[in-house]
Amino acid sequence: PCLISAHFAVLIIILSCISIFSFTSPLPNDIVSLDLATRLRHDPHSINIASNDYGNLVRESPSAVLHPSSIDDIVNLIKFSNNCSTPFGISARGRGHSVRGQTTARGGVVVHMPSLSENGIGIRVSWDPSLGYYADVGGEQMWIDVLRAGLDHGLAPVSWTDYLYLSVGGTLSNAGISGQSFLHGPQISNVLELDVITGKGKFITCSRDKNPELFFGVLGGLGQFGIITRARIILEKAPTRVKWVRLIYSNFSTFTRDQEHLISINSPNYVEGILITNENTTNQWRSSFSSPSNQSDIVALLKKQGILYSIELVKYYDNQTASTIDKDFETLLKELNFIPGLIFSADTSLFDFLNRVGDLDSPTGPLEAHPWLNLFIPKSQISDFNAGVLASLFPKLNEPSGIFLFYPLNRKKWDDRTSVVIPEEDVFYTLGVLHSSPPNAYQIYDEFNSQILGFCEKVGIKVKQYLPNYKSQAEWIKHFGPKWPTFRQRKSTFDPKFILSPGQRIFNSA
Ligand code: FAD
Repeated sequence: PCLISAHFAVLIIILSCISIFSFTSPLPNDIVSLDLATRLRHDPHSINIASNDYGNLVRESPSAVLHPSSIDDIVNLIKFSNNCSTPFGISARGRGHSVRGQTTARGGVVVHMPSLSENGIGIRVSWDPSLGYYADVGGEQMWIDVLRAGLDHGLAPVSWTDYLYLSVGGTLSNAGISGQSFLHGPQISNVLELDVITGKGKFITCSRDKNPELFFGVLGGLGQFGIITRARIILEKAPTRVKWVRLIYSNFSTFTRDQEHLISINSPNYVEGILITNENTTNQWRSSFSSPSNQSDIVALLKKQGILYSIELVKYYDNQTASTIDKDFETLLKELNFIPGLIFSADTSLFDFLNRVGDLDSPTGPLEAHPWLNLFIPKSQISDFNAGVLASLFPKLNEPSGIFLFYPLNRKKWDDRTSVVIPEEDVFYTLGVLHSSPPNAYQIYDEFNSQILGFCEKVGIKVKQYLPNYKSQAEWIKHFGPKWPTFRQRKSTFDPKFILSPGQRIFNSA
């Protein structure tokens, strides 16, 4: 009798799950007939996670979350949606490190990409006489794992993001930039081939020569044309060590002149920069940098000026170049005009340098909000931008909390056939306004971001948003400018029913 009542209890639970699903879900009921239905989750915990992202600013609930066990699960889900009288939205969620709800799919299905890693292709390092070294990487894989797998063979990708706990598919849907991009281009410039499931549910391999329209569309394509399930990434011999300095500047023109000089020569391997608006910034470096010269000078200068600037500069080396690295670095530094003596330096392994941000994904306290703004600014307008934004708005930030990145990039390292939008100048700057705020106080920072955008609009500074976020299609059309007709055409070709990545709000309101 015990066994019978246990079976009965299980049956009741199964029946009640099915009835909850069919009554609360706007997905068509016959989705339960699909093989993948058992991998659709609609419990509050799964829905809650898939409704939010790193930004913690936008909440949109899907009806279900797919934990795919194979690529076929995703193909079948997309095909099913295409065949519905009212197709539902489907968003790939890599690591959910978007900040404005871009991975959400209100009422539709969010695909939990990390599940693919259980049976997926993983990370395979290979060599080919015509291609050199490369890695075939599942779209769900994190860059930290690509780094580890490459280093096992003495190899590494050449272009990175600052933070490595992001998925390959997620960063390739944007661009993927960091201090190496001036030299190698963004991550989307360092991909040889992709496997993509389009919005029609077709599995297609593409490259510069094979299905190029899909290849270039997907790179920087904000998830609009297909879900990347494999990327072939260029690898090169990995250096073992890194010489790394931070230089302090008090004059904006000197700071940008030196940055532009550094990205015009091939000597450094990495060039970034930050705005110093409070003492914490340099205090944080003291733990990892050995030579914190005159900290008190920096504090006094900061009090006087309200803002300082720092260039972060790196040169790689290995056993063969170890004997000359100090001299080479010295030569490089001699060409620069930072404040004498205000230099922080470190010497570390390539792994520790690339993984310098560590893993931010296990917050111990309540979730913070991240009302970020990322911009690309044309070089020719940088002094107007400095006058109206950096020198006037940033020092007034009452409670600066976060990091403000600012460094130049070379346009020639970007391929104009990709979907990403950048300024029409040989050199442009990226500004990352990476605020952290208590969830109930983010409006102050959003207002700050609006002031930046408002100023640019008013005086005609032609900025472009990176990781863009807009509310209306008119704003998207303006963002894409001359690229809009191609972007629109690619959508009609690869996702004519507007199924993919509705959380970007380009073709659908949610
Ligand atoms: P998600 O947020 O999960 O997805 C982003 C978009 O891509 C969504 O529209 C989603 O539907 C789509 N998508 C996800 N996976 C796929 C796929 N396989 N195929 C097709 N579409 C897909 N960016 C930089 O360039 N440089 C940096 O240094 C950098 N540092 C960051 C640090 C932190 C702490 C955070 C939170 C973000 C940072 N970013 C940086 C931004 C980051 O690159 C993007 O937010 C990226 O989308 C995050 O990857 P993800 O896997 O979390 O993508």
